Parts: sequence; C-alpha cells; structure tokens
Amino acid sequence: MLLQNRAVIALGLRIFSTNVLKGPLMDTARQVSDMSEFRKVFSKAKHIAIITGAGVSAESGVPTFRGEHEKWRKWQSQDLASPEAFSRTPSRVWEFYHYRRELALNRKPSAAHLAIAECEARLKKQGRSVVVITQCTDDLHRQAGSKHLLKIHGSLMETRCVSCGHVAVNKRSPICAALKDKGAPDADVADAQIPVDKLPRCGERDCRGLLRPNVVFFGETMDSHILTKVEEQMETCDLCLVVGTSSIVYPAAMFGPQIASRGVPVAEFNTNTTPKTEYFTFHFQGPCGTTLPQALAQHESESI
Ligand SMILES: [Zn+2]
Repeated sequence: MLLQNRAVIALGLRIFSTNVLKGPLMDTARQVSDMSEFRKVFSKAKHIAIITGAGVSAESGVPTFRGEHEKWRKWQSQDLASPEAFSRTPSRVWEFYHYRRELALNRKPSAAHLAIAECEARLKKQGRSVVVITQCTDDLHRQAGSKHLLKIHGSLMETRCVSCGHVAVNKRSPICAALKDKGAPDADVADAQIPVDKLPRCGERDCRGLLRPNVVFFGETMDSHILTKVEEQMETCDLCLVVGTSSIVYPAAMFGPQIASRGVPVAEFNTNTTPKTEYFTFHFQGPCGTTLPQALAQHESESI
C-alpha cells in the first residue's frame, strides 16, 4: 500500500512533508530535459500512467477558478467547492457548478487530450497500456477517446443524491428549470437565491432528495474504490507522466513523487516548474498541447 497514511488523502491544499519523499532522483532532476532521452524511455515502457490536471483542460478553455485573476463572482473554487458552502448556500454552489457544466459541455478536447487518447489506442494494439488518472472533472478525456480513465475528483456530469446516495450521469442543459440562464460569473451579479426545492432533485422512486455535483469537494476524501485502482496503477506503471498540474492539491500532488521514489521515471509537462519538479527525471516546459504530441508520437521502434 503506497498511501499508507490515510489522513493525507483528503482533498486539500495542505503542504505535505517533503522529507518522506526524498530519494536518489533528487540529484538527477533537471529543469528542462532532452526529449530524445524521454523518447527512449517511452519506447520501452509497457504500462504508462498519465496524471493530468487543470492545465490540460485550460488549453480547451475550461477555467480552474484557482488563480487570483480567475474568480467566479468574488470567489475562488475552494470557497465554493466545500461541504460547508454547499450546506450553507446550496443555490450559490449550484449556480457555480451550473456555469461550469455549461462551459464544459461546450468545449472540445485539446491537442493534449487527443495525443493521450491516440497514444492509448495505438499502444493497446502492441499489448502496452496507458491509464489516465485525472483531477479534471470535465468530460474532455472521454470525449477525446481515452478509455482507461480514473477520475479521482469525480465528474461535473454526474450528480449524487444527498439523501439516498444515488449517483447518475446527468448532462442535461440546463440541469433544472430554475438554473436556466443563471450562474453568470461577473463580479456584480447577485445570487439567484433559488429555493432549495427548485434546485436539482433526486429522481429515484419517491426520494426527491437534494442532488449535488458528484465531485470531491475540498476537505472531502476521495472515493476509496478509485483510490485502490490508482494505487494499483502507481505500483505497476513503468513510466509516469505528470501533465498540466501545479502539484499543490493533495493527494494527487504526491502520486508522481511516490512513483519516482520507486525508481520509475517520471516526466513532468507543465507551463512552469512546480514544487515537485525536483523529484522527477524529466521536465518539459510549455503548453502541454505542444509538448505532449511530440512526446507521445509513434516511436520508430513501434511496429503497428
Ligand atoms: Zn435520492
């Protein structure tokens, strides 16, 4: 079991002790790496784990609402994506998620999404595997064609009933009549203050419980079934890519360093260095829509 300390699996921005992760790779990490070296490692890998974060979706125009200049009204994601905010102001939180759902429904996969999906399909024919472990809650990896996908932070396109727990895929637009044309992000827009009985409600038998987005809020723990699958992939992969993530939201931020501590090559693709760059064998700086298609293209040694 790689994630021995279950206390750290709650989603949050906390700083994880770096002491437990120090290993021999610390000395070999470099700021910008040689792509031809990475390509040699890639050509030999049999089980590739690709961890993706908001940067991949940002290139499709899906905002994260984490930066100081990326607010929804006057709030950032962590102010609204919490159990406390949902129980205090379910109407405001639903407006926020309605806005994000509508936005995501209208976006197309980026070059990075497509490169990952194409790589999975190509390598599968060679008896090799690619798994995508994503923090993104939109549907863009699946739309691009990725099949082996672990959505560790849940999905914007699913709901979960707070009364009976029923989870359902839901891509309705708008999700309910009261949210039609609501959720505008501008700072001067007032809350719609929709009565709770007009918010999305459960359709299971006579339940009628309040629905919430089936995403992992800050402070909540990840689904244990998905976490077990992630652990299996972390233990068996022989190459890991960490793509478009700032590596500050836990527990996902420690997946790459945990894999690196096993001696497995880890390559980071991001617009900037991150707090975890020093743990990785490779670092490729730039938009992942530019770097990933080069990195994952067919290698001369592949026979298909
Ligand atoms: Zn229900």
